[in-house]
Amino acid sequence: MSDAILQTVGLTKEFRGFVAVNDVNLSIRRGTIHGLIGPNGAGKTTCFNLLTKFLQPTRGSIRYDGRDITGMKPAEVARLGLVRSFQISAVFPHLSVLENVRVALQRQRGGSFDFWRSDSLLRQYDARARELLEDVGLTAYAGLTAGELPYGRKRALEIATTLALDPVMMLLDEPTAGMTHDDVGRIVQLIRRVSAGRTVLLVEHNLTVVSGLCDFITVLARGSVLAEGDYATVARNPDVIAAYLGD
Ligand code: ADP
Repeated sequence: MSDAILQTVGLTKEFRGFVAVNDVNLSIRRGTIHGLIGPNGAGKTTCFNLLTKFLQPTRGSIRYDGRDITGMKPAEVARLGLVRSFQISAVFPHLSVLENVRVALQRQRGGSFDFWRSDSLLRQYDARARELLEDVGLTAYAGLTAGELPYGRKRALEIATTLALDPVMMLLDEPTAGMTHDDVGRIVQLIRRVSAGRTVLLVEHNLTVVSGLCDFITVLARGSVLAEGDYATVARNPDVIAAYLGD
């Protein structure tokens, strides 16, 4: 597929002989929201970690934006704009919401933390951090410590810190996990908004979220690709139904 931004060929990961991801060929089109779904143990998280280079494949290759990134480190691919959402554990609970985004901005620019001592730099980072908080609907929470945020808002903060890294392609790992119904609705709208002009790979358990957001879906089961297509196509595939019923 010529307009693919990310492609894998024969992507395989074995853990001591156990094949968690088996010969997976993915092709993710630029500018789309691509869902990666499948029952528990299907290999979604392993795949996600392979794509963001947190794991090295046993075999196979990964191309991103015209380059072979198979041997690269997470920080190198992040600099190319391929950015994973940080888990809540990466949010600093004792810093304010604003400070968390400021730290992420600073990290993106790769400098030292001298900005704490430079008023003009601090103002620049603050202005950008406030824009990002506005984008994710957290303006009213800027002064709270991150630890005080309700759970759903923490996930929004996680997305703001991801956006601070200027992603071309964002990889989101179960962004609605553990959320209330209202929070899910808000995060779906947020993902739709921040995906404009970007590519998103979404690993997600909630099939309502997947059907509402994803342009294209890859279904994994037992480490292999079981089906691909739009939601309506994969949802009526008997193999997919059987895989989910067996979950
Ligand atoms: P999913 O995210 O779809 O639930 P995972 O990628 O977490 O699936 O796991 C796929 C399979 O690989 C599971 O059977 C899991 O037990 C196994 N697995 C994942 N990580 C490891 C690891 N570090 N060592 C051994 N087995 C692993």
